[in-house]
Amino acid sequence: MASVMSQCAKCSISSDERACRVEGGEGPAFCPTIHMGPVIERARQRYQHPDIREFARQSSIQEAEGYADRDARPSVNHPAKPRLQEICEFAERMGYRRLGVAYCAGLLSEGALLEKVLENHGFEVVSVVCKVGCTPKEEIGVRDEEKVRIGEFETMCSPIVQAEILNEAETELNVVLGLCVGHDSLFFRHSKAPVTVFAAKDRVLGHNPLAALYTLDSYYQRLTT
Ligand code: SF4
Repeated sequence: MASVMSQCAKCSISSDERACRVEGGEGPAFCPTIHMGPVIERARQRYQHPDIREFARQSSIQEAEGYADRDARPSVNHPAKPRLQEICEFAERMGYRRLGVAYCAGLLSEGALLEKVLENHGFEVVSVVCKVGCTPKEEIGVRDEEKVRIGEFETMCSPIVQAEILNEAETELNVVLGLCVGHDSLFFRHSKAPVTVFAAKDRVLGHNPLAALYTLDSYYQRLTT
C-alpha cells in the first residue's frame, strides 16, 4: 500500500514551483514526488535495462523534436508535427521494420489509409481488424438483447486475437486505431510488442474524446453532476 494516494490532478502549486518540475520544489500532502521516494526509485531502476533505456531515450528525443524553434528565447511552445508523422519517425528512430495495426471495423477506411502511410514510409505492415476470427458474442456470454443489433448474428470484437496475430507476426511496434473502451485495454495487456495509440474511439465526437472535456461547462455539463 502506498504511503500517500497521489492526486496530481488536484495540485495547486504553480508549474514553475512544483516538486516534479524543479529540484527542491514544493508539493502538497498528496505529492508523490515528495512522499513516494521508494516507489519512484524502484521505477527509475527499470530504465537501466538497456532496451527500456533506449526506448525511453528515443521517446524523449521524439518528444523534443516535436517542437520547432527550441533555442528561441523567451521560449514559446511551437509544436510542429502531427501524431501520424511522430509515429513514423519514432518507429524509424527505433529501427523497426515490421509494424502492427490493430484497428476497429468502424474505421475501415482509416485503417487502410494508416496502413498506406506506414507502407509509404518503408515499413512492413501487419493489419488486423477487431472482428477477426468471426467469434459470436454468445461465446463470452453476451445475450441477444446486449448486442448492437438485437436479433442478429454479431461477431465480438476480439482484441486478444488481434494481439495474438500480431504476436505471431513478431511485429516490433503495434499501433492502435479506434479500438473500443475495454477492448483496447485487453489489447494492451496481450500485445507482446509495445503499443502506441494513433486514435481513441469516440463515436459521437469524431474520435476526439477531449471535446467532451472542452465543452464540460456547456454541452457536457451533465457529466459533472
Ligand atoms: S508530483 Fe507533486 S508537485 Fe507535481 S503535480 Fe503531483 S502533487 Fe503537484
